[in-house]
Order: sequence, then C-alpha cells, then structure tokens
Amino acid sequence: MPTAKKPDFLPQVAEFLSGGPLKAVIGGKEVASSGGQVFETRDPGTGEVLAEVCAMQADDVDRAVRAAADAFADSGWASLAPNDRAVMLHRLADAVVERKPVIAQIEAYDCGKVHAQAEGDVQNFVDTMRYFADLSQHVQYRTALAVAGHEAWSVRLPWGVCGFIFPWNFPFLLAGWGTAPALAAGNTVVIKPAEDTPLSTIYLAHLAKEVGIPDGVINVVPGLGDPTGAALAGHPGIKRMSFTGSPEVGRLVGEACGRNLVPAKLELGGKGAAVIFDDVDVADTVEKLAQAITFHTGQVCCDATRWLVHRSIYEPFVEACVKRLKQVAIGHQMAPDTQMGPVVSEKQRQRVLGYLKRGREEGAELLLEGGQAEVAKCNGYYVKPALLAGSLKNVAAREEIFGPVAYLTSFSDEAEAVALANDTDYGLANSVWTADLGRARRVAEAMVSGNSWINAHNLFPHGVPYGGVNKSGMGGGVLSIETLLDYWRSLSVVRPL
Ligand code: NAD
Repeated sequence: MPTAKKPDFLPQVAEFLSGGPLKAVIGGKEVASSGGQVFETRDPGTGEVLAEVCAMQADDVDRAVRAAADAFADSGWASLAPNDRAVMLHRLADAVVERKPVIAQIEAYDCGKVHAQAEGDVQNFVDTMRYFADLSQHVQYRTALAVAGHEAWSVRLPWGVCGFIFPWNFPFLLAGWGTAPALAAGNTVVIKPAEDTPLSTIYLAHLAKEVGIPDGVINVVPGLGDPTGAALAGHPGIKRMSFTGSPEVGRLVGEACGRNLVPAKLELGGKGAAVIFDDVDVADTVEKLAQAITFHTGQVCCDATRWLVHRSIYEPFVEACVKRLKQVAIGHQMAPDTQMGPVVSEKQRQRVLGYLKRGREEGAELLLEGGQAEVAKCNGYYVKPALLAGSLKNVAAREEIFGPVAYLTSFSDEAEAVALANDTDYGLANSVWTADLGRARRVAEAMVSGNSWINAHNLFPHGVPYGGVNKSGMGGGVLSIETLLDYWRSLSVVRPL
C-alpha cells in the first residue's frame, strides 16, 4: 500500500504552519482568541499534529460580525460597481491559481484528501469565483415596473453580513461555493471553518488581504462547533446564514436563525441512490460507481450509497463490484499511487466501523468486509471499502455513514426502483443508469431530490442549481443564478404621478 514520507512541505506551507497558533482574521488583522484557547488540527494520514489554531469564543465572533458590518457600511465594497467588484474577485481567483500548489498541499494534509483531488478542489474554487464574478455583471439591478398612475421600480441590494459555517470534507471548495455569490453581490462575510480542517480557509483570508479586498469583507473565525459556530448562528448582526453540514447541527442552526428571523440556507447530508437497469455496460457502471464511493473516501454528501440493481444482473454486478473495490490502493494522501486516502479523524473512522457492525447486527449481508486498513509507517485513520446488502430498512441503508460503504439491493421493475430510491428521509442526489434515455428521463424526474444524474454520479457544472430537499436541506442551493439572487434583497420604490 502507498506510504508517506516525512512531511515534505513546500516552503510557503511550512512558513504558514510554523506561525504559532494560527489566528482568526478579523477586520484584516490576525486575532487570537480572547481567552487564549487553541485546538489542534492533524494530518489524517499520519495522525500527527499539523498546527495549533486559535479557538475563537463568542466575544471574538461578535467582534468579527461587527468588523464585517463596519466593512459593509464603510469599506466601499457594497457600493462598488458590480464590474469593479468582479475585478477584485477575479484578482482573488488569479492569486489562488498562482498559489495552487500551496493551497492544494495545505488542503491535502489537513483533510486527508488525495493530493490530485485537492488540486481539483482548488481549481473548482477558482472556477466558482470567476463564474459568480462574471454572472454578477449580467444581472438587472434596477427594474422599471409598469404600474398605472405611478412611477415604480425595484432594485437589488446586498443584505449586509452573511454568516457561513462549513464542514470538513471540502473546506476550500465549499468556501468558494458558499461565499463567491455573497461577495459578488456586495455582501461581507464571516466564515467558521470546521475544526478538523480550518487551514485553507485561514490561508484564503490572508490571500484576500494581499489582493486588496478591503479589510473586514472576508473574516474567518476558526473554532469548535460550540461556542464558535453557535455564536455565529445566533448572532443578531447576521443578515443571512448559510450552513453546510449534518442535519443534526443544521436543525440547531436553523432554530437559532429562526429566533432572530434570519433566513438560513441549509445544505445537509444525503443517502443517494444509484438505480442500475439491466441494459447497462456492467463493467463501465461498476467502474464509475466504485470511483464515486471511494472519492474522498466516501465522505461526500451527494454520494450514491444505496445501489439498487436490476434483479437479472444483480449477481454479476456484485461480483464485479467486489473485485474492483478490492483493487483500490489505500494510502497516505500525498503518496503518488494512492487512490483512496484516510477518513478525516479517528471519530469518523469509528463512525464508519460502527455502522458496519450495526448493519450486520441488523441482518445485512456482508459482500465485501471493509474494516480498518493498515498503511505502512502511517498511523492514520484508514478504512477499506465495504459492501453490504439486504433490506433497505437496515440502519446502514437508512443513515448517512460518510465512508466508502455502499448498500446494495435488487429490484424487479421501474416502479419498484423508483419507490426504493425514494424510500429515504434524505433528498440530495441520485443517479439512474440505463441505455434507454426515455426511461432515464422518467426515473430521473420521479426521484424526490434536488439533483438527478443520468449514467454518471457527482456532476457539478456551474450554472446548474445544486441543493437538497427533505432532510438534505432547505432554502436554496449553490452554483447557479438562483444562488446569486439569494444574496440580494429586493427594494421597491413607488411615486404617485
Ligand atoms: P457537522 O454538522 O458536524 O459540522 C459542520 C459545521 O458545523 C462545523 O464547522 C462544526 O464546527 C459546526 N457546528 C457544530 N456544532 C455546531 C453548533 N451547535 N452550532 C453551530 N455550528 C456547529 O458536519 P461535519 O461532520 O463537519 O460534515 C459532514 C456533514 O456535512 C455530512 O452530513 C454531509 O453530508 C454534510 N455535507 C453536506 C453538503 C451539501 O452540500 N449538502 C456538503 C458537504 C457536507
């Protein structure tokens, strides 16, 4: 199995990590926690500490929200012409391109993300920033309204301070998906990155300052869920909130925002289905689903974790899946041959192993055993891919595991396949696999979720809305014009003639 050498940091990464406990960035300044609290962030591939980070407290979060409010009022960001603001965001994207090796290395080490995938995430951030910067120049900001006896118009205006709380699986990419539309629309932001993976977001705040984005427009407050995240979600100075993470914490954030009457966008978990009909190329479909379930070690909210396979091809399909998943090269995320890295933490590894155990106890058949994986010279958090099968009432088929584990079952016809796919509390993303495009369209539209894919899984072209329904989220999505529109409030003006 691929192993890691001793950390071989780029000089800029070593310099960034060696700067003592890494601080928050508030109003363009580096700020330590008011109480001096710190936490550690580790390399999931070795379990070694990468850096200490300041754990910001409720009063620090308050300072960050006030800095963002001041920047909204005084820095000129909100009143810049959209094309001038877009120039600044393109500058930020340019700087990210220039530092891609640095950011990708920070991200790979902090998340346990395979290095090439971390590079992909950084590029995705760049594409997202450019997409919204460009889109914001093609929106009608002022619309004349044809109303009898009145002169009337409506105007789009930014809200003010927008809060963002992110999870640990795609920290840099999600920082782009979340904040790019808010920034392009003229808002200022306060970001709370996940405590397991705060590094690339702190780096982003430094980069924003370097390229001349005014102080206070992008603030980053690292820390634990409670108090840091809770203080941000419940802060009355926030005008819009965006949370990406688990449904359990999403509820808390939604409740806190509800008390303040602050609109909250919740991007939550998933338990997606892949519906595989009997006319597919089995080898090709197995290859694509094996790649999907092992991508970022299965820690992907929109993954296909329930594989529903037509009865007539079930056995050869299972055989091919087992064979393919046994070949996955598990290793340290920086080792060149690694196909699947570690999960993010020991806690996450225990969660994956716990679901395998509970799934079996509830009667699931073990098609591929999974379990803890050992990687030479790396004391990190490795697991093997696993396949379970049986009733979809099983806990491992109902709850989000967030690891390289798929749950298989068979179906007889289209109606049964759709019913099984929809038998879930979640509703984020599903896929349908068939050579019959008429059937593909029918099934894609019958599945209750935010996203349906045909003969592929995990597709995120910019311009296509991405969001969830039911337990997977509420209040909008990301990556499309709708998302940008969310970051303006509408003001109408009327004068009697
Ligand atoms: P999590 O809900 O445990 O944590 C997410 C964030 O919330 C972290 O920053 C955490 O510190 C913070 N938090 C924790 N307690 C809080 C509280 N009381 N108040 C405010 N903030 C608090 O999720 P996670 O384990 O980091 O991430 C995995 C989850 O994220 C999975 O369910 C996954 O499906 C979901 N996710 C969804 C999407 C999407 O777009 N729908 C994308 C990525 C991840």
